[in-house]
Amino acid sequence: MIEGLIRKLAESHSLTLSEYESLIVNRDEGSAKLLRSFAVKTRREIYGNDVYVRGLIEISNICRNDCLYCGIRRSNTNCERYRLTPEEIFSCADEGYELGFRTFVLQGGEDSFFSDEVLGGVVREIKARYPDCAITLSMGERSRESYAYLRECGADRYLLRHETADPEHYSRLHPEAMSWQNRMKCLRELRELGYAVGCGFMVGSPFQTAEHIAKDLKFIEEFHPEMCGIGPFIPHKDTPFKDYPAGKLELTCYLLSVIRLIHPPVLLPATTALGTIDPLGREKGIMSGANVVMPNLSPVGVRKKYELYDNKICTGEESAQCRECLSNRMRQIGYEVVTCRGDMKNYGGVRN
Ligand code: SAM
Repeated sequence: MIEGLIRKLAESHSLTLSEYESLIVNRDEGSAKLLRSFAVKTRREIYGNDVYVRGLIEISNICRNDCLYCGIRRSNTNCERYRLTPEEIFSCADEGYELGFRTFVLQGGEDSFFSDEVLGGVVREIKARYPDCAITLSMGERSRESYAYLRECGADRYLLRHETADPEHYSRLHPEAMSWQNRMKCLRELRELGYAVGCGFMVGSPFQTAEHIAKDLKFIEEFHPEMCGIGPFIPHKDTPFKDYPAGKLELTCYLLSVIRLIHPPVLLPATTALGTIDPLGREKGIMSGANVVMPNLSPVGVRKKYELYDNKICTGEESAQCRECLSNRMRQIGYEVVTCRGDMKNYGGVRN
């Protein structure tokens, strides 16, 4: 029965909610293998053996929000706060360009220092220096006007994980001041403004059920994001969720394969969180259908401070080492990290 569902998904890129749930609940080694082989074949048809690379610059760990899972939440008084100056961000981008990065991801907490004026200025300057590069922002929830302005300044893409497609589950992961409705509104506005948009969720977040994940998959099927970031939840010692177990590698890889089949051309990263729960996590992610890696370009001095969860990897190495290390890891499994912007490719009848 599950084999039938996998074949149906590979052909039609769509299942009902209860079929998605059944795909999760009834999975076993055999079905995972079949799913993976379809996902890898699909990815190969579109992207060959290319793996896209993004230079991640963690520009601030100062955040007004208090997400219950996150190590840089406002209430964490043990977190040593920092923010990069625009000059520091430019030098990360300069170094990244030299190393072959053609996409920069500026990610951070919701830090009021990065007003439209300041963040817009940073985007403009990077675009002026490197017009052949794409800029992705991942700076949380902002107003429509703010997103519109940043887009005018040259931002190409925006990552904002939806975190969970179930409003009740969302309310258990976030403080009252945050709303699922607003997150969805932000995603819709980003889309309307012409960004390439990334959504996503944590696998194994507290209280998550197969039914929730089925809703996440249906949301991805309907929203058709250009990018989708999924990685395991990993507890952070200074958060209310410190005693909850981390998400599983096996389920994360399984879902990477499912998402590849739901939306064949989607840009799908093998995340740092996946590499944190397993030494070969990122390789296993790529071998399940992912096609993006995001090495760290942040200055080494701040990397440990951007600790969203415990034991985050790659916090001690220079950017060049990170880039080199990931290229070698990919080569060892038969893939090639390529130097290009890495936009989502057109594929068949898929819109976007
Ligand atoms: N502030 C921006 C936002 O909210 O989109 C960007 C930074 S936020 C820290 C980036 C992502 O980290 C979140 O969307 C969340 O899914 C992930 N994250 C936070 N805490 C995590 C944890 N404990 N384990 C795994 N991922 C986590």
